Order: sequence, then structure tokens, then C-alpha cells
Amino acid sequence: MPDLQDLYREIILDHYRSPRNRGELPSPPAHRVEGYNPLCGDEVVVTIEVDGGKLTDIKFAGVGCSISQSSASLMSAAVKGQPLEEVQRLIRAFKAMMSIHEATLGDDVVDDDGSLADLSPEPVDDADRYVDPASLGELAALQGVVKFPVRIKCATLSWNALAQGLDELEAATA
Ligand code: ZN
Repeated sequence: MPDLQDLYREIILDHYRSPRNRGELPSPPAHRVEGYNPLCGDEVVVTIEVDGGKLTDIKFAGVGCSISQSSASLMSAAVKGQPLEEVQRLIRAFKAMMSIHEATLGDDVVDDDGSLADLSPEPVDDADRYVDPASLGELAALQGVVKFPVRIKCATLSWNALAQGLDELEAATA
């Protein structure tokens, strides 16, 4: 019987080789956000469509390492068609999963401008701090990334772009 790590590796490789929702939605009407991870050189373009309180469509494009690309694919599959509250819950839960070890990274990570990266974990509700991997479905496959601190930004790149896009849409309609 394959152990969990093998299963997780398979899921990540599957999404890397056969990315879901790859491409770009026509923008406008879709909202377009670009993200860049200077630590690794990953680039991502996330296009989203929101209608009636739901994330009705999402596509991602870009180039980068297997973690950044498979994370974007896993994200798109998880959030597509979901109510925005569920999308926000997944964003919080995923970032909490990735931030659990962020405070213990040490001080040797340097930002692209040469300054030390801000390693303080993002504030999350206590309820979100302890993530039940079962509530994340296939996204749990990426939890092993926290063991490789330099790859965390690869995994969160597309999620930050999605969160930014939703914030911008909300601000535009407020
Ligand atoms: Zn990367």
C-alpha cells in the first residue's frame, strides 16, 4: 500500500503534468492578476470571473517550478464554481497550512531587494490555525512543502494572486 507521501507526490505530479484550468479568461470581463515569486522565478497569471456570489470561472497561466504550477492547478480545481465564502475559507485554510512553520524559518531568507523577508506569519483565526488536512481535499498534498521553506512562496503564489483579485473586485463593487 503506498504511503501518504507517495500519494501526495502523485497528486502534485499529476497536476503539474496535466494542469487543470490552464489558460486565460478574456479580460475584461474576467479580472486579471499577475504574481511573481523572485525567490524562484515563478510567474503566474490568474483570471477570475465572479457572478452571483460565486467564483464562476478561473484559469491560470504562467511559468515556474513544479510546486508553483501544481499549486495553481490544485487551487483552480478546488475553488472553481464555489461560493465566495468557501473560496475565502480555502484561502485562509491553505495559507494557515503554509504558515504553520513560517515563524520557524530562521532569518536567512532574503527578499529580492536584499532586505530580510518578513517572516512573521499572517494573522489567522485560531480556528484556522489548526487545519484538518481532510478539509482541504487534494490541497493537503502540498502540506509537505512547509518542510522546504524556500518553496512556500512557490506554493502560495497563485493563492495570493487569487486573494488579491477577490479583494480588488470587492473594492470595485463596494
Ligand atoms: Zn517555485
